[in-house]
Amino acid sequence: MKAAVFHGPRDVRIEDVPEPDAPAADEVVLGVIRAAICGTDASEWDHGPILCRPGVVLGHEFVGRVADVGSDVTALRVGDRVVSGAGISCGRCAWCLRGRTNLCAEYRTLGLQVDGGLAEYVTSPASICRRVPEPCDDDAAAMTQPLAVALHAISRVAQQPGDDVAVIGVGGIGSFIVAGASHRADGGRVVAVDVDASRLATASALGASEIADATGRELAELLLERSAGVGFDVVIEASGAPHAPAAAIAGARRGGRVLLVGLHGAPRELDLTRMILREVDIFTTVAHVCDSDIPAALELLAGSDVAAVTAGPRIPLEALVEEGLRPLAERRAAGKILVTPSGA
Ligand SMILES: [Zn+2]
Ligand SMILES: [Zn+2]
Repeated sequence: MKAAVFHGPRDVRIEDVPEPDAPAADEVVLGVIRAAICGTDASEWDHGPILCRPGVVLGHEFVGRVADVGSDVTALRVGDRVVSGAGISCGRCAWCLRGRTNLCAEYRTLGLQVDGGLAEYVTSPASICRRVPEPCDDDAAAMTQPLAVALHAISRVAQQPGDDVAVIGVGGIGSFIVAGASHRADGGRVVAVDVDASRLATASALGASEIADATGRELAELLLERSAGVGFDVVIEASGAPHAPAAAIAGARRGGRVLLVGLHGAPRELDLTRMILREVDIFTTVAHVCDSDIPAALELLAGSDVAAVTAGPRIPLEALVEEGLRPLAERRAAGKILVTPSGA
């Protein structure tokens, strides 16, 4: 079968590889219908390996049809259309037993350490797969995993109905956070902040109540200006820009909450005293919890136009590097790039 194999920086090849073996007792083999790619894939291609195991088949966002089931699998049948979560957890460690499977001591991710879905077939543990409801088309279903990551982020910071929320950085995962936060806003404002006009336009279409162009602006000042000088109940920092975490803290109100989503290539300086004296809480987030975040993402995709607003070009697997990873790495991709590994 054809698969996108990561060999090293700037070296992802579409190769003929053996089809997956028969599934283990608790696994399923999926024929991949649609896969999506994200900044993680582009970073691995551009300057990896960061998390990737060389030789791995890429792809951690995908929907497929069950082609084979292991002997212990009862919840899924051959022919079912399912999405797979990306994280594989052990189910036995202290974190798994507390439901925090994304922090599992043996956590591995499909498409990074384990062969993923940018291929004609992929093997997943049945426990992380969920059937796709009919209103979700294939393109939408392929966005389940990144939306689940966004919804997990929002659950970490416990957005309450009526909270005024600012989201800094609304490309990629930030745009899905805007969608999720707007869905739960219930009268609260969701202000999308970015330096890119097209990203801000997408954020509006995804439900942001306001947009703020931060081009040439001091970010903390902008946040205070947009919150009547008081600060936001919740500031979500998804840009990873060096100065953004400090600005997020300054832009939170007394007793407010800050969620750090964007990753940083270096340590950053924060004014902790200013944070402590205002009881501003900081949260962090990584990946998603399959049992809660995947069903929530499917529900939002089935009941909204998030996928239609977000969808970008659809490309064949052969075009993955030139029409997918490269434009994404060079920040000239518009919309979520979707790949058709089986040509459909
Ligand atoms: Zn991703
Ligand atoms: Zn575990």
